[in-house]
Amino acid sequence: MKHIPRRRFDCLVIGAGGGGLRAALQLAQGQARVAVVSKVFPTRSHTVAAQGGINAALGNVHQDNWHFHMYDTVKGSDYLGDQDAIEYMCRAAAHLVIELEHFGVPFTRLPNGHIYQRAFGGQSLNFGGEQAMRTCPAADRTGHAMLHALYQQNLKARTHFFDEFFVIDLLMDKDGYALGALAIEIETGEPLIIEAKTTLVATGGVSRIYRTTTNALINTGDGMAMALRAGIPLQDMEFVQFHPTGIAGIGILITEAARGEGGYLINGEGERFMERVAPHAKDLASRDVVSRAIYEEVHAGRGCGPKQDHVLLKLDHLGAEAIKKHLPGIRELSIRFAHVDPIEKPIPVYPTAHYTMGGIPTNRFGQVVVPVHTGPEEEVPGLYAVGECACVSVHGANRLGGNSLLDIIVFGRAAGNHILEYLKENRRHRAMPEDAIDRAMARLTRWDKQGQGESVDLVCDELRLIMEEHCGVFRTQAVLDEGIKKVTELKSRLQHATLRDHSKIFNTARIEALELENLMDIALATVYSAAARKESRGAHSRTDYPERDDRNWLKHTLYSREGNKLDYKPVRLKPLSVETFPPKERVY
Ligand SMILES: Cc1cc2nc3c(=O)[nH]c(=O)nc-3n(C[C@H](O)[C@H](O)[C@H](O)COP(=O)(O)OP(=O)(O)OC[C@H]3O[C@@H](n4cnc5c(N)ncnc54)[C@H](O)[C@@H]3O)c2cc1C
Repeated sequence: MKHIPRRRFDCLVIGAGGGGLRAALQLAQGQARVAVVSKVFPTRSHTVAAQGGINAALGNVHQDNWHFHMYDTVKGSDYLGDQDAIEYMCRAAAHLVIELEHFGVPFTRLPNGHIYQRAFGGQSLNFGGEQAMRTCPAADRTGHAMLHALYQQNLKARTHFFDEFFVIDLLMDKDGYALGALAIEIETGEPLIIEAKTTLVATGGVSRIYRTTTNALINTGDGMAMALRAGIPLQDMEFVQFHPTGIAGIGILITEAARGEGGYLINGEGERFMERVAPHAKDLASRDVVSRAIYEEVHAGRGCGPKQDHVLLKLDHLGAEAIKKHLPGIRELSIRFAHVDPIEKPIPVYPTAHYTMGGIPTNRFGQVVVPVHTGPEEEVPGLYAVGECACVSVHGANRLGGNSLLDIIVFGRAAGNHILEYLKENRRHRAMPEDAIDRAMARLTRWDKQGQGESVDLVCDELRLIMEEHCGVFRTQAVLDEGIKKVTELKSRLQHATLRDHSKIFNTARIEALELENLMDIALATVYSAAARKESRGAHSRTDYPERDDRNWLKHTLYSREGNKLDYKPVRLKPLSVETFPPKERVY
């Protein structure tokens, strides 16, 4: 085989979204040699699309407390979130949001100059009391502001960037150490080995397994699939968040901030149905609750439009000025994609796949952890994961809006700090085994195969439709089992698919084929995990098992690729310093 060039760093960060960039910044400022690899230019990562804001109990609009935020997060997670990690995140929030402000994020202001805070779903005061205003926005382009500020800070700190490089697989040795990754430069198609003493996976979510989604084309779960291939199980993959308000038929997101600013949903009869479904929180109940309500309205024949297949999000009563000031981005999106100006008319909306609660299992230092037969779980030496590809787990069975931008900042920083400590103890690069490189290269060369096999695009479309039909908002055993069968068949068809274009230079078809292999593995992880969980909790809603069943199912799922094996581990109910929030019935 041709000689493959090599580069060496203390830490390789795979992914330049908010999670990867926050970690890289910590490392670069700590004098580590850090490389960030991204398959798109860093500021095009999906974090840029985040609209509504980031949660922190700053108390700028009313008295607030991180402990209230913690309660809401535990309740929002339907008690599947790990309470030690949740306490850590909510406690760190205020400090880290102020730090972002100092990095240059232009947050929206109150008249007194403090950061403006808006209402978001599932947020309360005094442990379930009045609606809280806790979400800090930069208008409705918060992720955009954050990602650009973090990128600039990294340039200043001299982080090394490999832009438009696609990582194919992690490189590990026989003792289970992470040693870096194999990537290709998309422009030239040439491979590159990046050797590193530590590797951090920050590749984002995977809602592209669904046809209708808010996610960017690049959100194909590459890092999660790399972990699966390295023998690491994925945690809680059955929990997929469907955002209640995607533009109907297209899926593009209309932020929850639209309801936070006073917007509300109406059905075909003009009824504000959330008042009936969640009398207390109404349109700002948790996302899983609102998504199910919309689905039920439509399926009960109370939808809007000629096909009665969506509901309406009404904003016109807020007035043109408020919409232009606080929701300029969603106004633009709805004019362009739904052809309605929300200042005049309501926006047609329907639930859309949005966020992956599950992912690579980690502890609150970002270390990847795996179960061992001899006792409690163990860390994978040198391997870290943060952001949407990781499962700490702070979101449990359902994430609250505004908590993901927080998650990536808090755990990005924590992982950076832990890596700096690890590097003090592990000063040398370990030897790179050739067979690890060969295995990773085989993934690439498989697509050099000539022939008239099926086209990759068709398989991809089919996968996304199967997932929508067989693993959606509501689920039953029969529908899920059928889903497993169909995805398994499709996976074997993919093995015979071939590319028409075998060129090297900027061959996006080859990248898409590699991404589809990743999507396929994640789709299987999702349906297998969902078919096994015989209860309803958070976003996992089984019409055949409508109740939450804490006796049997208050536990995390672990799915392994080898033999589609399922394992379980306990939820960490004990916080770091405060009392446990014991599981209670969840009403809004
Ligand atoms: C439309 C939208 C709006 C949202 N709004 C909010 C909000 O208001 N508040 C909130 O809290 N959350 C929001 N979220 C969720 C939140 O934005 C994401 O969960 C979060 O930004 C994910 O950050 P990340 O760093 O984990 O990954 P991402 O930002 O997705 O970045 C992933 C990175 O990995 C790289 N990558 C992936 N695979 C490879 C590979 N094979 N090789 C090389 N590089 C690779 C990509 O190039 C990219 O740089 C929103 C999400 C969406 C989709």
